[in-house]
Amino acid sequence: THSTYTQNLMRTITVDFSSASEARNYPIHIGNSILNQADLIVSCLQQKHVAIVSNTTVAPLYLNKLRSALEEKGVRSFPIILPDGEAYKNWETLNLIFDALLNNHCERTTTILALGGGVIGDLTGFAAATYLRGVPFIQIPTTLLAQVDSSVGGKTGINHALGKNMIGAFYQPRMVLADSATLDTLPDRELRAGLAEIIKYGLIRDPAFFEWLEQNMQRLLARDPVVLNEAIQRSCENKAEIVAADEKESGVRALLNLGHTFGHAIENGMGYGVWLHGEAVAAGTIMAAELSRRMKLINEADVMRIRKIFVQAELPVTAPRFSPEKYLELMALDKKVSAGKTRFILLNRIGEAVMRADIPSSLIIDTLTACMT
Ligand code: NAD
Ligand code: MG
Repeated sequence: THSTYTQNLMRTITVDFSSASEARNYPIHIGNSILNQADLIVSCLQQKHVAIVSNTTVAPLYLNKLRSALEEKGVRSFPIILPDGEAYKNWETLNLIFDALLNNHCERTTTILALGGGVIGDLTGFAAATYLRGVPFIQIPTTLLAQVDSSVGGKTGINHALGKNMIGAFYQPRMVLADSATLDTLPDRELRAGLAEIIKYGLIRDPAFFEWLEQNMQRLLARDPVVLNEAIQRSCENKAEIVAADEKESGVRALLNLGHTFGHAIENGMGYGVWLHGEAVAAGTIMAAELSRRMKLINEADVMRIRKIFVQAELPVTAPRFSPEKYLELMALDKKVSAGKTRFILLNRIGEAVMRADIPSSLIIDTLTACMT
C-alpha cells in the first residue's frame, strides 16, 4: 500500500523468468526497517518451521528481531550460527549446516533463511540446493554487496583450496528481503566495497543511473536511507533483468564481470582478504576503462568521469605493483578464460559494455604499466 511505501520506503521488484517458467519468479523487497515485516516471509512459506543460517557477527545484531517477528506470526525457527569469514565458505562449514538441518528434522517443505552477507548467502543457497535434493530458501542480505549483487541471481556455492567459488549450483531463492537499516552497523570499508558493484551497473547498461550516482555519492556514503533504497532498487532491477535474460551466463550475464578480470588478479595477487572484492573491482574497472580507451572504444572524457566517481566513493583507483608478467599469469587463472584466451569486458562508453577476446597483449601490458601505483 501507499502508506507502507512512505513509512519505510518499501518497494518490490520481480525477477521475471516468465519466458521460461513463471513458477520460478520471485520478489525482491527493499526497504528501511522491514526485517520485522514477517508477513512478507510467511506468505511464501510451505510450513511454519524455518531454519535461519547466520554468523557470529550478524546474529547478535539481527537474529532476535527476525525470530520474534516470525514467532508473532506463529512461525517456529531455529538458528544455525556459523563462524564469520570467507575462510569458512567451505565443505566443513557446509556440513555444519547439513548436520543442523538433519538434527532438527527439516523436511523438503522447510524453508531456510540466509541472514548475513554474501558468504552466508552463498553457503546457505548451496545447502538449500542440495539438502534433500533441494529445499526452498530466502535471502535476507545484510551487506550492501549482498543486497545489490550476491543475493540476486541464484549463484550459490563454496570455495575450494584450489579456487574461489569452484563448487556450486545455480539455485534461485523464493524471495529476497533487503533491509537497508541493517547497513547502519556495516563497517565503512564494507559499505564502499558494495558501492563498486553499484557503479558497475551504471557503467555496463544504465547511463542515467551512473549520472544519478555521480550526484548522490555523498548521500550514499552518509547512508541516507532514501538514497540507499533507490540505489539498491536500481541495482537489483539491472541485475534482475540480466539474470532473467541469461540465467546461466552464456551471454549478457558475463558483462557483470566488468573490472573483475583485473580485479581477481589484484585480490589473488595480494592474497585473498587483503583487498576487499569491491576495492579490487574498483581498481580493476579503471584498468578495464583504460584498456577500452587504448582499444579506441571509450573516450578520454568518459574515462575521467569513471575515475572521478570511484574517487568520490573513496575506493582505490590504482592497482598494486606487481610485474606485468605476474598480472598476466594471475589473469590467466580467471574463470572467463576459454580455449586459452582471456576475455575482457570493455566499455564502448559509460552505459555500454562489450565482451572482447581479440586484445593485443601489448595493449594489456601498456594498461597494466599505466595503472599501477
Ligand atoms: P561477507 O559476507 O564476508 O560480509 C562482510 C563482513 O560484514 C563479514 O564480517 C560479515 O559478518 C559482516 N556483516 C554482514 N552484515 C553486517 C551488518 N549488517 N553489520 C555489521 N557487519 C555485517 O562479505 P560480502 O561482501 O557480503 O560477500 C562476499 C561474498 O559474496 C564472497 O564470498 C563472494 O564470492 C560472494 N559473492 C557472491 C555473488 C553471487 O552472485 N552469488 C556475487 C558477489 C559476491
Ligand atoms: Mg563481483
